[in-house]
Amino acid sequence: MPNTRKGSLASFSLLQSLIRQTYRFPLPRTYHRDMNISAMLKFSPFVSKSLGLGVAFFWLTLAVSQVNAQEKVAIEKNSKKPLSVLLVTGGCCHDYDFQSKALQLAAKERGVLVEWTIVNQGGKGTKAMIDLYKKPNWQEGFDVVIHNECFADTDDTDYIRSITKPHFEGTNAVVIHCAMHTYRSASIDDWREFLGVTSRHHEHQSRYPITVVQKDHPIMKDFPVDSKSAMDELYIIEKVWPATTVLATSKSEKTGEEQPVYWTNQYGKGRVFGTTYGHSNDTFSDKAFLNAVVNGIVWAAGK
Ligand SMILES: [Zn+2]
Repeated sequence: MPNTRKGSLASFSLLQSLIRQTYRFPLPRTYHRDMNISAMLKFSPFVSKSLGLGVAFFWLTLAVSQVNAQEKVAIEKNSKKPLSVLLVTGGCCHDYDFQSKALQLAAKERGVLVEWTIVNQGGKGTKAMIDLYKKPNWQEGFDVVIHNECFADTDDTDYIRSITKPHFEGTNAVVIHCAMHTYRSASIDDWREFLGVTSRHHEHQSRYPITVVQKDHPIMKDFPVDSKSAMDELYIIEKVWPATTVLATSKSEKTGEEQPVYWTNQYGKGRVFGTTYGHSNDTFSDKAFLNAVVNGIVWAAGK
């Protein structure tokens, strides 16, 4: 019995010192009285074993959870999944091969892992209904779809809704330049609501000063102050849709009116980042523009 009593006392004082260390204040006197230690020690074999096992189990659990946390961090680092991005491009007026390569390179240079699928269909005209959108579930598996296509005279309602519906249901998007004038002839507003802005024409090419109005937004965080665009067209925005947040503007040289040039939109469950810049190869060589688009891809993907 003396050995068991000693063991009980040792285990109990170990527990007490552990509690003191944990909470860093002395145990109140009433604690000792209420516990009736001497009475407890008379049932000591069971109490002693329980306390001893309890302390051992506590430390073992702590050690195992720390090992698990370290392993989890290591696994997450090694298995960083690339973003799956579909780039839809083609149509009138721009050098889409150059622009597509510039986007791929820009993501790579900024350390953003992307698995690219590039669909360049519809020729170089202003009217086409491309095969991609005729495929059921064309959007499936992509974190983000980039629209950099330019078909102003396509106006088929069912065709346009086969594009907007998946976005409304949660496919995230980035929309660039002529995407804003694509389906311009359509009578329905679905595509414009998806974009977050309505635009039907643009002003001349110039180097437009850019004013960032959402400086803390993750897309604009590195955007230079007092910068100018590369040579580009200024799109005139007739309407900013209610779920749109304007991130930056440029002033018209003709009217002096500020026009949104970077923005985000929420279309149903889909996140959308948009910019009206992107006409020239100079723009697709411009560091600030490429930073914003790559940030926009990451933001749209919800990363
Ligand atoms: Zn253009």
